[in-house]
Amino acid sequence: MKVLVINCGSSSLKYQLIDSESGEALVTGLCERIGIDGRLVYKPANGEKRIFEDKLPDHQVAVSNVLAAISNPEYGVIGSLDEIDAVGHRVVHGGETFNRSVIINDEVIKAIEECNDLAPLHNPANIIGINACTKLMPGVPQVAVFDTAFHQTMPDKAYMYGLPYEYYEKYKVRRYGFHGTSHSYVSKRVIDILSLDKNNSKVIVCHLGNGASISAVMNGKSVDTSMGLTPLEGLVMGTRSGDIDPAIMEFIAKKENLSISEIMNVLNKKSGVQGMSGLTSDFRDIDEGIKKGNNRARLAREVFCYKAAKVVGSYVAAMNGVDAIVFTAGIGENDGVVRKEICSYLGFLGLTVDDEKNAVRGEEVVISTPDSKVKALVVPTNEELAICRETVALVK
Ligand code: AMP
Repeated sequence: MKVLVINCGSSSLKYQLIDSESGEALVTGLCERIGIDGRLVYKPANGEKRIFEDKLPDHQVAVSNVLAAISNPEYGVIGSLDEIDAVGHRVVHGGETFNRSVIINDEVIKAIEECNDLAPLHNPANIIGINACTKLMPGVPQVAVFDTAFHQTMPDKAYMYGLPYEYYEKYKVRRYGFHGTSHSYVSKRVIDILSLDKNNSKVIVCHLGNGASISAVMNGKSVDTSMGLTPLEGLVMGTRSGDIDPAIMEFIAKKENLSISEIMNVLNKKSGVQGMSGLTSDFRDIDEGIKKGNNRARLAREVFCYKAAKVVGSYVAAMNGVDAIVFTAGIGENDGVVRKEICSYLGFLGLTVDDEKNAVRGEEVVISTPDSKVKALVVPTNEELAICRETVALVK
C-alpha cells in the first residue's frame, strides 16, 4: 500500500509518501510558512530536491500543492492520486479519549476537537490537515495516530499530579506524555533486537531530540514518561526548561515584569540548553563550543546529561529493574559523547559502554559491552514509518 503520512504544525506541514511493503519513503518534504507566504520542499527518493516558493495561504492549499507535486507527470513519484491508498495523520493530543490509533470519521474529529484545550497550537492544525485531505481525496481512508496514546497505559500513580483532585476531574489536568509513536516503535525494536520476552521486559527509551522525553516501558507498555500535561515538563531540552521549581515563575515574573504568557514563552523558547549556554540549542554547536573551552556550553551539556541520567535512574526504581536502555532521536542517535556521559552515571546497574560501538552514528547498534548486565542501544526512530504501519493495520 502507498500511505501518505501528514504531520501538520500551526504553520508547517511535513509529509512522506511511504510504500508500506518496503517501508521506503518514495518522497519526503515539508511546507513551511503556511499563512505567511509559503515554501514547499520536495525530496523524491530517486530524484533531485526541489523547492517551490508557492504562496501557501492555508493548509488546504498546502495539501493540494503537495498532492500536485507527488503526482506531477515530470517529477512526481506516482502516476495519479488514485495510487494513494490511505492517509496517516500525526495528531498531538488525544487526551484520555484515545489510547490507540483510529480511523477518522466525524465523531473522531469531534473528539479530537474536544482535546483542543490541551494542545491549543497543535490539535487545531491537525484537524485542518485532516479536513484538507478529506476535501481533496474524498473516500480515501484516514487514520489518526496520537502522540499521547502509547502512554495511556500509565497507572494513576504515575499520571496524577499532587494538585487538588478537582483539577483532574474538571479539566483533565494530569500527565499525558508525548513522542508516543517514537517510544512505542523504539521499545518494540529493542524487544526484537535483543529477543526479549515482551511479557517480561523492562526497557527505558531516551528520546533525545530538540524536544526530549524518557519513558519506562514494562512488558511492552508505557508505565511512566517524563513529559506531562504539555511537552514542557521533564528533561532539560533544546529551548525548553523541563522541570523547575514552579515558584520560579512568580519570582521571575515580578523581577522582570513579565506576564504569564511571556514567562511561558521564556520557558518554552529561551531556556534549556539554549538558555544555559547563551549560545545555541543545537548539540553539534554545544560540542564545538566545549572543544573551544566555552564553559557555559560545558555546563549546558552536563546539566542535560545529569538530568537525563536521574530520570533513567528513577525509572529503574519505578520498574524495579531494567533490561535495556535505548537512545533515539537527533541527539540520542548521533551524539556518542552525550550517550557515554549519561551511561557514566549508570555504572551501578552494571552497565558498561563499548567505546568503539558507541562511536557509531544513526544505526541500530548495541553499544554496551557483551558482559554488561544492562544493555544499552541506539535505535534510530522512524515516526513516519510507525504512523504508516498503524494506518495500514487499521485500513487493511
Ligand atoms: P530532533 O528533534 O530529533 O530532530 O533532533 C534535533 C537535534 O539533534 C539537533 O538540535 C541537534 O541538537 C541534535 N543533533 C543532530 N545531529 C547531531 C550530531 N551529528 N551530533 C550531535 N547532535 C546532533
